Amino acid sequence: MNPSSFYSGTYAEARAKFLETCAAQGLRVEHHIHPKRGREGEELATDVARFGPENASHVLFTQSATHGVEGFCGSGAQVGALQSGLYDDLPDSMAVVLVHAINPYGFSWLRRVTHENVDLNRNHLEHGQPYPVNEGYEQLKDAICPVSWTPEARASARATLEAYAEAYGPMALQGALSGGQYSHPEGLFFGGHQTTWSAKTMAAVAGKHAASARHVGWIDYHTGLGPYGYGELISDHLLGDPGHARLVDWLGESDVTNTDDGSSTSAPLTGVNSLCVAGAAPHATVTMVTPEFGTSPVDEVLDSLRADCWLHNHGDLDSYQGRAIKAEIRRCFYPDADDWKAMVFERTSDTERKMIAGLATLD
Ligand SMILES: [Zn+2]
Repeated sequence: MNPSSFYSGTYAEARAKFLETCAAQGLRVEHHIHPKRGREGEELATDVARFGPENASHVLFTQSATHGVEGFCGSGAQVGALQSGLYDDLPDSMAVVLVHAINPYGFSWLRRVTHENVDLNRNHLEHGQPYPVNEGYEQLKDAICPVSWTPEARASARATLEAYAEAYGPMALQGALSGGQYSHPEGLFFGGHQTTWSAKTMAAVAGKHAASARHVGWIDYHTGLGPYGYGELISDHLLGDPGHARLVDWLGESDVTNTDDGSSTSAPLTGVNSLCVAGAAPHATVTMVTPEFGTSPVDEVLDSLRADCWLHNHGDLDSYQGRAIKAEIRRCFYPDADDWKAMVFERTSDTERKMIAGLATLD
């Protein structure tokens, strides 16, 4: 089977492929319909399929498109897992829940954020309480999201960002940019001032499908950091947590990274998806991993996000520049090449198999 056939060119194609695959296997699918329409006028939804018994004590979730445009990767993993029979020999007590396109709006519109301009993976915290402050972002906000995107404005902004990296180190710059911020609703990596549609949907899906579970595994597929085609397995637990120890045990010590000790290509983050899962399944153990597949150098990836932020705030999506920016953000999160897809699929299949085998060892 050619792994490239599992992947799609648009959200609409990905959704159709997922639903057709589920139908061919007789899986029941829940449709959580999104209030907005997609880029082609299509309906947007988070589609959820469950493989295995309703009362399973062990439930593995796989999730795509937390960061919209990154959904090409996770959708391919989900379609490929079903089509290649990855779940055909599940233990009796186990179910797999496939959460397809948790942020369908961002997937369709080639954005990392939700329709509220919120980064879903920074949105899970108690709103109404004081928010974490990202001082680096405050300092750099005009350079991160300049009002003008001319070559001159970009060069000047770039010089400001490079001076910051020079002074505090590249990871400090990455943290300022991507760690999450709660002060600038028009800006990048905004965590939101209320619970987004996608966060509510994720909590509802997790609560419902983990209701009977004693043990929950969760795989949240991402792209954009690390070497081309490589899948870094980022632990969603603090270093001392039993969840982290389980991941190391199941996936291998040399493969599991943690933002806690600087071994990850990701900066430490706030309001992340694992908080949603833990809140929705307090009765279960949770073991969660975020596979992060490399695409392009991090500077290019971050620049594509800055350009997209400018485009949606100040530009014209239908202009030549608008189309070029959209093509670039898509390329930066989805290389759309056969070698990349083959590498990714090998890693997603292997990770899912190991998570299933690991979960099965728990009583
Ligand atoms: Zn991501």
